[in-house]
Amino acid sequence: MEHPENNPKYAGLNVNKGVSQPPIINPYLKQKKKRQDYSPAEYTEQILKGNITVLSQAVTLVESQKNEHQAIAQEVIEKCLPYSGRSVRIGITGVPGAGKSTSIDAFGVHLIHDRNRKLAVLAIDPSSERSKGSILGDKTRMEDLSREPLAFIRPSPTAGSLGGVARKTRETIILCEAAGFDTVFVETVGVGQSETAVHSMVDFFLLIQLAGTGDELQGIKRGIMEMADGIIVNKADGNNIDKANLAAAQYRNALHLFPLPPSGWSPKVLTYSGYYKTGITEIWNMVDEYMTFTRNNGFFEFRRNSQAKYWMYESINEQLKNHFYQSPQIAKELLLKESQVLHSEISSFTAAKLMLDKYFNETK
Ligand code: GDP
Repeated sequence: MEHPENNPKYAGLNVNKGVSQPPIINPYLKQKKKRQDYSPAEYTEQILKGNITVLSQAVTLVESQKNEHQAIAQEVIEKCLPYSGRSVRIGITGVPGAGKSTSIDAFGVHLIHDRNRKLAVLAIDPSSERSKGSILGDKTRMEDLSREPLAFIRPSPTAGSLGGVARKTRETIILCEAAGFDTVFVETVGVGQSETAVHSMVDFFLLIQLAGTGDELQGIKRGIMEMADGIIVNKADGNNIDKANLAAAQYRNALHLFPLPPSGWSPKVLTYSGYYKTGITEIWNMVDEYMTFTRNNGFFEFRRNSQAKYWMYESINEQLKNHFYQSPQIAKELLLKESQVLHSEISSFTAAKLMLDKYFNETK
């Protein structure tokens, strides 16, 4: 169209014709299948082929809060289940600064190059909800591993309660195993409840410790040490080697005071350096030894079965709770009850009973 400004009545003004621009959107983009277009069967087919992009998309659905995403995710998990269970699942914990990411980077490269493994690194990070950004499992913390085509690194799911986050990680393990990953790491910070959740989904629990800081300082509770199948003292390098050996001896002594765990395996204590990559072969020899030991005495099966049972009840608990809190009538009434409790008009117990009565009557 001619520009109106070129009309002779605007004397002295002349506007040149513009150049037509190509569309900014890639015309081929439409041909690519979008995530929503996959059916659960197609997701499963691609995951079983080891398609990492589709695996990532499926994990996003697992992590999604939306009901329609959850419905697809659950179907994919169900379909992948018969192909799962064939990996070695390892929980890795240690306080911030213990060297988890440095170690996982070194362990991962060792497993892929020296032991022909395919590794998935997942994480459970209870702090991520508050900070709204997950720290654990971040690719930038594992520089070498993130360049490995045989490694899949996934940060911790961020939304929801610890139970919810842990359940999503457990479901992600199933998808990773179906995609052919034969080793799965689940990383967590060794400061709270999350170890129990990780312990309930792994075959071997590895605790990373440091020398010379004392247990109190490391925030490692006795309970966490009791859960460990192996304790590894990091940063055994330079002039820290003697201190690391001493710490290892102290941990060995401390472990002697605990009763033998139900696996029948006496937890081992080793020293290593994640940074200088020394002592790493010994750590994975220990893990392999544990696997052979527990497969032979039946504990491996037993632990997996108990975990399956545990997760059934966890899922029931989680879904009951969600169903209750997501009901709009309940949510409205809850605020009212909360204020009555705060003003000492009714007791907490009466308020809880009234709310539950209302819920059970409505869902009858
Ligand atoms: P995370 O918080 O547990 O993931 O710990 P990082 O892996 O980020 O390590 C914390 C700090 O310790 C970093 O500055 C690392 O470079 C350092 N570090 C980790 N492993 C070693 C090690 O084996 N030896 C030494 N000297 N330093 C290490």
